[in-house]
Amino acid sequence: MNIKNLLLEVITDKELLNYYNATVIYEDTPTSVRGCVFNHDGVYFIIINKNLSYYKRKKTLLHELSHIELSQLCQKEKDLFAFHIDKYEDEANKYLKDLEKEIYNLEKR
Ligand SMILES: [Zn+2]
Repeated sequence: MNIKNLLLEVITDKELLNYYNATVIYEDTPTSVRGCVFNHDGVYFIIINKNLSYYKRKKTLLHELSHIELSQLCQKEKDLFAFHIDKYEDEANKYLKDLEKEIYNLEKR
């Protein structure tokens, strides 16, 4: 169960969310905030700006899931908001890009 399987459509986003014990909440956030993720009592809460387009909501969900998959949330404190930390932003974005590249190359063969 990981993002790669989701991108390959082997699993659905619901299955992956269940696996990570994550809940998605669509909120009216400030326009500069696409989304964020935090952990509370072992449950991941992924907040996504509900005003985004369908495509951007999907992208944001993948981005926030990357933070979970890269374990970027439980390193310091439980309520750490990953989106405040540039280093994590870059890592999460790179992780997704690399996955997409990998899958693109798989499909080319
Ligand atoms: Zn982020």
